[in-house]
Amino acid sequence: MTAAGTQIDERITRLHAHGLVDLHFDLLMDLYEKRERTNVLAQEFLPEFEAGNIGVLGVAIYLEDRYLPEMGLRVALDQIARLQVEADLSDRFTICKSCPDVLRARAAGRIALLITMEGVEPLGADLNLLRVFFELGVRVIGLTHVRRNAAGSGGVFAASGSSRDGLTGFGRDLLQACEALGIIVDLAHINPAGFDDIFSHTTRPLVVSHTNARRYHDLERNISDDQIKMIGERRGVIGINAVLVSPRQEEATLDRYVDHIEHVAGLIGIDCVGIGFDFFEFLYRQWPESAKHELAAKCTKPHFIPDLTNHAHARNLTRRLIERGFSDEQIGKILFENWMRMFEQLL
Ligand SMILES: [Zn+2]
Repeated sequence: MTAAGTQIDERITRLHAHGLVDLHFDLLMDLYEKRERTNVLAQEFLPEFEAGNIGVLGVAIYLEDRYLPEMGLRVALDQIARLQVEADLSDRFTICKSCPDVLRARAAGRIALLITMEGVEPLGADLNLLRVFFELGVRVIGLTHVRRNAAGSGGVFAASGSSRDGLTGFGRDLLQACEALGIIVDLAHINPAGFDDIFSHTTRPLVVSHTNARRYHDLERNISDDQIKMIGERRGVIGINAVLVSPRQEEATLDRYVDHIEHVAGLIGIDCVGIGFDFFEFLYRQWPESAKHELAAKCTKPHFIPDLTNHAHARNLTRRLIERGFSDEQIGKILFENWMRMFEQLL
């Protein structure tokens, strides 16, 4: 390696010393599907987390259609149960319920896991269950995925056509209960009418755990410049997604990922942008062709970024941020500090 290359490598290592925060990873459905095996977390995932210096990870409860409605609650609880068993088998992970928990886990060199919920289908329409999931450690909740549920409707994977309905009464009650308990409300996936409703029925900073700017990929599942500015008004944080950066595979590049970061930072400042990689190529790769077609029909065909497909690739992103002229201070905010500020304020 050249002297300049070594210097950049050392700079990346220094910037990664805190550990990166990624607020959206579909870990729990995979642990659940592999529930007959043990040490999946340590054997299949830990090496990639370590290679990318991942420090804090939002791990999502998500229910595939085939489990709904009857099995929703059961599978959601089993997903948490599998995480508890797997985390206990390794001394490298801690399930965290507060910001001090996260800081303690990091000080001990462990990866801090925050349980998130992507769509409130596990609750059905029972507000009492929110408290149960809170006790089990759920600290970030997005009301919907793409489908409609008891709380509201998701944004479609097209430039228009989402439901015009906002939140239901249950959805509004949930918001209030989340704010009262100290659960972070996540606007990822919600349809535009629901986004406005969440904004007008809450007062605290709002986050979008994993999304992209419609400027570069015009889907109602992503967020418009006006929506970005609304998050900025509350000094919230937007996590940039690595699988919806462009409608075209040839434009699914590290540079386009950085374009999304620059776009959000340009509109609302560098303090409001973070990481929400949403890496799921490891799941996609396991699926039969029929499931891939189903995803393409229901959502869209994902375009994975070849050199940003899993957590082991995180250093590639930092290298590109350096090459694009971001300062160490700015990179520290994107990779770590901004999400940590949200945890301090909201957990
Ligand atoms: Zn998602």
